[in-house]
Amino acid sequence: MSTPLYIKVKDQDNVAIAVHDIPQGTRVMEGVVTLQPIPQAHKIALVDIPKGGEIIRYGVVLGYAKDDIPVGSWINEHMLDLPESPSVDNMPWGTNLLTPDQLPDPPRTTWMGYRNKVGPAGTRNLLGIVTTVQCAAGVLKVAVERIKKELLPKYPNVDGVVAVTHPYGCGVAINAPEAKVPIRAITNVIRHPNFGGEIMVVGLGCEKLTYDRILPPEDITEENCLTLQDWKGHDAMMQAILDMADKKLHKLNLRHREELPLSELLIGLQCGGSDAFSGLTANPSAGYAADMLVKGGATVLFSEVTEVRDGVHMLAARCVSPEVRDKLAAEMKWYDDYLEAGGVDRDANPTPGNKKGGLANIVEKAMGSIAKSGSSPIVEVLSPAEKPTKHGLIFAATPASDIVCGPSQVASGIGLQVFMTGRGTPYGLDIAPVIKVCSRNEMKEHWFDLIDISAGPIATGEATIPEIGTEIFNLILDVASGVKEPYSDQYGFHNDMCIFNPAPIT
Ligand code: CA
Repeated sequence: MSTPLYIKVKDQDNVAIAVHDIPQGTRVMEGVVTLQPIPQAHKIALVDIPKGGEIIRYGVVLGYAKDDIPVGSWINEHMLDLPESPSVDNMPWGTNLLTPDQLPDPPRTTWMGYRNKVGPAGTRNLLGIVTTVQCAAGVLKVAVERIKKELLPKYPNVDGVVAVTHPYGCGVAINAPEAKVPIRAITNVIRHPNFGGEIMVVGLGCEKLTYDRILPPEDITEENCLTLQDWKGHDAMMQAILDMADKKLHKLNLRHREELPLSELLIGLQCGGSDAFSGLTANPSAGYAADMLVKGGATVLFSEVTEVRDGVHMLAARCVSPEVRDKLAAEMKWYDDYLEAGGVDRDANPTPGNKKGGLANIVEKAMGSIAKSGSSPIVEVLSPAEKPTKHGLIFAATPASDIVCGPSQVASGIGLQVFMTGRGTPYGLDIAPVIKVCSRNEMKEHWFDLIDISAGPIATGEATIPEIGTEIFNLILDVASGVKEPYSDQYGFHNDMCIFNPAPIT
């Protein structure tokens, strides 16, 4: 089978994407000869587009031509004016609700996880030690290295020890309205399903984020909370942390994996370093896997507010109730105001790498990003770092920033994240494993031992979305069950816990 030169998504599109670099003077289709070299993933004009005319991909207006664009031209990010983003007021809801029989069947319906007393099961069995303030981070990081070396080998059923060190906790306006976001993230990460209900919090002693802001009174005990300023000198402080960790590890070592239904599985999806193939290959494949998971009873989060903003009406059509639609609208409105207060709008999102990968603006990026949500109904919308209360597909509002979206979904309790990329990133999380899916074959060839799955064969006609989607589904269950490790975990590539703090720092 020969590789196609271009991919056109919808009949009404007046642009197509170059599957590979196309030289100048190439006849792409009847009546279309390239006027310039077209870089891989970039757009080719299929008709003459007059100044002010619509540029249409995915059946959606990406923007308006700044000047006349002759047929066969390369269309880059400098040639479009951005359209207005759709209003979030009075969006119709529930006009596109698929029933379960319209979703693909999952090939497996159980997995092996660590059951918890409440909430989703764990995918790993970890001792999580959470700081109340960055001031305690240096001590804790040294302590965790010692715990791993001196204590962990005694507890073979425990997979690891994680120091949850974040930038929040002091020097902040702790009573500012939006302080609830970082405080909620820290509160919820203490109870992460992979920590098995064992609480270990390390504070400094004089910070603003006091224990009572993140723990209920019954959990503020000497067994759970350790305050550095209470200990005389380095050796006593370090020994106290090791002693507390030893007791927690003893309890965690009693946990074991058991066969569980998919309803006990909570995962997250995000994309980063996207290109124009992301919305054709990697994201729709992840969406197919998400539909299988949802049909099997699992819970799947997708996020990244600025990357769904321009398709918000499509998401409203998939909301199961006016209440869900209203919360979706409220989260979008909050983010519009947040960006406006910073003097920008959602078009501040695309990166130089996104643009090099053919994404002209945020509308085009959003259409590709939304594809990761598959086609299931949206049963709930979460504010940043909130925990889900429902099973099914959930929109969890977070920034699109890879390193902030990840921790925010972790605070919501995901046991695993699937990360789609076009340009490539070594990103990983230490609390939940991350599976990397790339959008192009060239990416997989370049980073053959960093990318877990390539969706590139879809672009070249060598595989279908259901085939790659099923491969992703099976890897999700294997990684969640501890049978396989994604590359980021094999190498220990783990990003920092960059929690979202929209409130002032003092
Ligand atoms: Ca992202």
